[in-house]
Amino acid sequence: MEKTMRTPIIAGNWKLNKTISEAVALTTALKALVAEVSDVEIIVAPPFTALAAVRDAIADSNIHLSAQDVYSEDSGAFTGEVSAPMLKDVGCDYVIIGHSERRQYFDETNESVNQKVKAALAHGLKPIICVGEQLEERESGQTEAVIEDHVTGGTAGLSAAELLSCVIAYEPVWAIGTGKTATPAQAQEVHSFIRGLLTKAYSAEVASQLCIQYGGSVKPENASELMAEPDVDGALVGGASLEAESFAQIVKFDQ
Ligand code: PEP
Repeated sequence: MEKTMRTPIIAGNWKLNKTISEAVALTTALKALVAEVSDVEIIVAPPFTALAAVRDAIADSNIHLSAQDVYSEDSGAFTGEVSAPMLKDVGCDYVIIGHSERRQYFDETNESVNQKVKAALAHGLKPIICVGEQLEERESGQTEAVIEDHVTGGTAGLSAAELLSCVIAYEPVWAIGTGKTATPAQAQEVHSFIRGLLTKAYSAEVASQLCIQYGGSVKPENASELMAEPDVDGALVGGASLEAESFAQIVKFDQ
């Protein structure tokens, strides 16, 4: 499948930011700025506390709702966790899983990522599975080994149809929140490697349909050159998604 057949997906990860009223204000401003966009899947991922309010604010719009994490069990004695049925109930279509901040600060592993991916899929949520190497890993030539480990670990046991309900986000850890973006060539190299891994594990047809986002200091100034690469199908945006104007400019990367 040609790149042009894959709908670009631009997602804003708000991380630990925005009260309910701030979240609604941001969403309302964003909604107006991107109302005419029909060729991009637009996603916002507010904190759990703002999901219901943002759901109401995006009603009848072209913006989809995502959570930033999910627990692998549906219910039970797991104080502080939020489950896939709960996220579906509040109106999420997507959930970010395995973000490097969760791997780094909250002991997320490939195994827990895989369990969460399966729980999300079982309840009709589309996982955005984050993968990416740290700076020392890149500098010591381990990028491909780390990416292979994250991709195969995160997607273990998924059928082709399940894989195609997922999005993979390549986020080099050294580029997240640092202002250091991967060059378009660096991003393309890893995206093409990921598509190659999935070609081997599934088929060329399946791999060619999968959306692979890039994340790491994406800004209005660099979005279009990254998106021009043949295997870069979208962006997962942190800092620049916290303001409606800059996120809208990234959403409109091709205008
Ligand atoms: C992210 O958190 O997924 C991210 C890419 O952050 P930033 O855009 O701020 O680098």
